[in-house]
Amino acid sequence: MLARQSAPGRRMNAPIPPPPAVRTTCPYCGVGCGLLVLPDQRGAASITGDPDHPANLGRICSKGSALGETLGLDQRLLHPMVREPDGDLRRVEWPAAIAAVADGFRRILDRDGPDAIAFYLSGQLLTEDYYVANKLMKGFLGSANVDTNSRLCMASSVAGHRRAFGSDTVPGVYADLDRANLIVLTGSNAAWCHPVLFQRMVRNKRERGAQIVVIDPRNTPTGEEADLFLGIAPGTDTALFCGLLVDLARNGALDQRYVDDHTIGLADALARAREIAPDVARTAAATGLPANDIATFFELFRTNPRVVTCFSQGVNQSAQGTDKVNAIINCHLATGRIGKPGMGPFSLTGQPNAMGGREVGGLANQLAAHMGFSPREVDRVGRFWRADRVATREGLKAVQMFEAIERGTIKALWIMATNPGASLPRAGAMRDAMRNLELFVVSENVLSNDTVNSGVQVLLPAAAWGEKDGTVTNSERRISRQRRFLACPGDARPDWWIVCEVARAMGFAQAFGFRSAAEIFREHAALSCFENHGTRDFDIGGLSLLSPAQYDELEPVQWPVRASSARRDTRFFASGGFFTLDRRARFVALEPPRLGTATSAEFPFRLNSGRIRDQWHTMTRSGASPRLGAHRPEPFVEVNPLDAAATGLTDNGFARVTTRHSACVLRVSVNAGQRQGLLFAPIHWSGETASTGPIGDLVAPETDPLSGQPELKATPAAIEPIAFRYRGFALSRRPIVLPPATWAARVAVANGTGFRFASDDGIDIWRSHHGVLLAHGDIAEYIDAPRGVYRAAAFVERKLEACLFVGPPEAVPPWHAVKALFEAEAVGDVARRLLLSGQSVDGVADTGPLICACFGVGLQAIRSAIASGAAHSVSDMGRMLRAGTNCGSCLPELRRIVSHESVTAPV
Ligand code: SF4
Repeated sequence: MLARQSAPGRRMNAPIPPPPAVRTTCPYCGVGCGLLVLPDQRGAASITGDPDHPANLGRICSKGSALGETLGLDQRLLHPMVREPDGDLRRVEWPAAIAAVADGFRRILDRDGPDAIAFYLSGQLLTEDYYVANKLMKGFLGSANVDTNSRLCMASSVAGHRRAFGSDTVPGVYADLDRANLIVLTGSNAAWCHPVLFQRMVRNKRERGAQIVVIDPRNTPTGEEADLFLGIAPGTDTALFCGLLVDLARNGALDQRYVDDHTIGLADALARAREIAPDVARTAAATGLPANDIATFFELFRTNPRVVTCFSQGVNQSAQGTDKVNAIINCHLATGRIGKPGMGPFSLTGQPNAMGGREVGGLANQLAAHMGFSPREVDRVGRFWRADRVATREGLKAVQMFEAIERGTIKALWIMATNPGASLPRAGAMRDAMRNLELFVVSENVLSNDTVNSGVQVLLPAAAWGEKDGTVTNSERRISRQRRFLACPGDARPDWWIVCEVARAMGFAQAFGFRSAAEIFREHAALSCFENHGTRDFDIGGLSLLSPAQYDELEPVQWPVRASSARRDTRFFASGGFFTLDRRARFVALEPPRLGTATSAEFPFRLNSGRIRDQWHTMTRSGASPRLGAHRPEPFVEVNPLDAAATGLTDNGFARVTTRHSACVLRVSVNAGQRQGLLFAPIHWSGETASTGPIGDLVAPETDPLSGQPELKATPAAIEPIAFRYRGFALSRRPIVLPPATWAARVAVANGTGFRFASDDGIDIWRSHHGVLLAHGDIAEYIDAPRGVYRAAAFVERKLEACLFVGPPEAVPPWHAVKALFEAEAVGDVARRLLLSGQSVDGVADTGPLICACFGVGLQAIRSAIASGAAHSVSDMGRMLRAGTNCGSCLPELRRIVSHESVTAPV
């Protein structure tokens, strides 16, 4: 049990006197948008895009614009806590918490050696946090068991880059997306996952006529914008790009001069490609694509020198992710289309600082500053750090690290800023494994999540976005400042401070005497240029002497920033200069495509997991926003209509999805964009937000042999319908607990929490439970026993304090209409009387699901505009309702609704 902690509002901490607007960076995706934050004196803030930030030029998406709704302290961890012998977590002061961590690590280090310890970090950390954590483990504890949730995100891109270029280098820049004539998106739902960047691509299409090709087993909102959509069979991207390489060679489209001057290995790669996909017909057979579409794609690629191929988790999260990345890079190297304006392979990073983590060496197979574990590099880093215990070999990558925890060979674990108890494959087994750790430390923002609840022994309150200072690096290698605009609440401290305190307590004071993020950044920059005579790509030596004031004012800057050269290259490899010993890139001869685990009669489907538009990771921050919660409020599984018919599933019904590892119950969404045989479920819901738990529980632990990245998109699965007798929802301003057998999803609403649920419990159970649900206020009830309808509401003065509606599906009033009443300042007498009757409530419109999160436009408003004849197009919607006119994330959905409703609207 958690001990109670005081929960001060932000107003109890004197806010830092706010400047007019603080320039900072979004904490969500790898686009790395610049933001202008105007804090108020109550701990809230208004957020807009920074027009001067080159990554977004003032634009932000629905998630970025809702950040102001996520700054509350409701779930915040405010004080260090240590588990006492009686099993309870108790609040302690910082010195006691630091001693518990340092003494524990020291004991296990001395007894079992450095490889009995592991750190699991996060792409949400700032570079400075990452740097000191990596330095402590790899330089002073002596193990490379430092890995990160970026392993789940883009490790295959890192491995592919290193195999081809000799370094983990993203060659291009975002401006290439403005100048390309052909943009290929493979394994990327950029419309939802990198919305600002995707709108930039769409602008290129509209203004310059660029063409967009989308390659994905699932037709997502990104695919809806495509000139050519290739609904490829899962796991076969390698065959498609091998076919492309063969086609380029056959048609004389190779840049032989570039190949001769700057690469080696084309002959072998081409020979292997010819074995895998020798012509269009056999490429079609291997990928499940129509031959005509493949021929069209090959011709588009061949005839458009300005081509950028963007790839993301659909490529990376695969048992062959590294091969897929190299299949793409092979085609760009062969045509010399790399590092030039409008050309190149482009890895879209998922997390805000995955790139910064790669820079410091936060992955187990890197040492530091883009150096590996060769004796020369170990020696160099050791001399720079003045450390004599530098790790000499790679550590365990995420999945293997947690398997070692399961086996008991890793005995101490420190997790920072991530939730592997929900996000790892076989997450349920990983939660069990963490419970058996001898020392289990978590640095967190929140009091409770799947990881914290897995037996944490020391819980350290970390500063959150807005409360800390540092840098992040986005997908185009642009380093931007995250700046503080809120005081740290309670005892929360920046992660770098916590790591340095532990390091000092372990006897490493000299190497960890940092007093600010700026000091750490200077050392990080100095290491990047230490004995780097152009032999390493990552070099920011030009920033190693920044004064504190210069660090404060640092403008977004792309690396490299070399101290020795005034020349600022923004792209890599247009003229070769790769970071291999002979400075030549490597073509890679690839393995034939395969998926990790075969389907079977028992598990005939493949379960794909991914993100949705308005949530982020396990919802720690985005889940606090009522606006973001209104888009897709429940965990769901998308099913192809033919699969739904064959398995007896109905849209909006429920299904049990089962894999070898676990099972969960999800709302069914029948979607023609879903490929037959594939299921899709979002990653966001966890044990904190849904009764059904995280989708990670179901995922198989197959990994790519080179990158160690797990195949999160193709777990063999079964699906079957589930029937619940009753549906309902509850809204409350206070915490409530539903009966134990309820299927439920928690969703943020203004001034409270909502639960949408399904249940087989009848009226008696709900009535007996209503005291727990509606503990305060004047309570009114409505019971229709023959129909199984139960409704109750509690009012305090004129406000709806809580309410509960349960009954057969057709007898539950619209959630959106009642939510609007709950969120209202006061409820009128008529509405109050009609609330429990289930009749329409005067003055309260049922908005339907939220479509445009930026301007709060619901489905009903869009339908009404079409039905009235006033709107016929997406631009009419923009003019009338402002829908889609800000970030554009909803435009594909808006387009689909307009086209569907226009067809069905009465004339
Ligand atoms: S695209 Fe959206 S989530 Fe990503 S960085 Fe920009 S505002 Fe943040």
